[in-house]
Amino acid sequence: MRESKVKKRVRADEIVTRLRNLYPDSKCSLNYKSAHELLVATILSAQCTDHRVNIVTNDLFQKYRTPTDFAYCSVTVLAKDIHSCGYHNQKAKSIQGTSLKIVEEHDGNVPDKMDELIMLPGVGRKTANCILGEFYKVPSMVIDTHMVRIMGLLKFTKTKDAKKIELDLIEIFEKKDWVNLTHMIIDHGRAVCIARRPQCSECVLTDLCQSSLAI
Ligand code: SF4
Repeated sequence: MRESKVKKRVRADEIVTRLRNLYPDSKCSLNYKSAHELLVATILSAQCTDHRVNIVTNDLFQKYRTPTDFAYCSVTVLAKDIHSCGYHNQKAKSIQGTSLKIVEEHDGNVPDKMDELIMLPGVGRKTANCILGEFYKVPSMVIDTHMVRIMGLLKFTKTKDAKKIELDLIEIFEKKDWVNLTHMIIDHGRAVCIARRPQCSECVLTDLCQSSLAI
């Protein structure tokens, strides 16, 4: 039977409450001290673990201290510096290109608007939402692989398209929960609702999840 939007919202609210109880310390696991550092770390995190990114940025942010340092660096040297994050040539090009645009067109400041962020080289909606929500505290939702999978399992969306999922979810979840929702879902995806072997019998969402294998 089709679930009404009102019922979906009630279910979403209860899911947030339970996840918050389970993961009270959920937060972004990338280390950064500025919007630009967060932007660089987020670009590096594509297809790479946050743990690895933090190891790399620990040295990287000592060597490149400002957006200008990245903007006028050698892309070849930068690619070597970030090699262990994978896709290093592409990521180096994105980081240098994005930093150059920030320095030359935004006075060295990372923009705080979606339409400006997505004009930066290598910055898509996911990265832009991360900067907006995490650094500028603008209600935004990052749709990563855990969000795609788990929101599908919870039947809050039928698509795998990140932008469409974002539009589905902002209708259901309360604005105040958007930023933290992604962090809690990532924690849940790692600990319980693991890809290919979800631990439904141990999941606090079992009675709220239409895909549960435990009911
Ligand atoms: S009940 Fe199972 S499928 Fe649903 S969220 Fe929990 S672990 Fe995932």
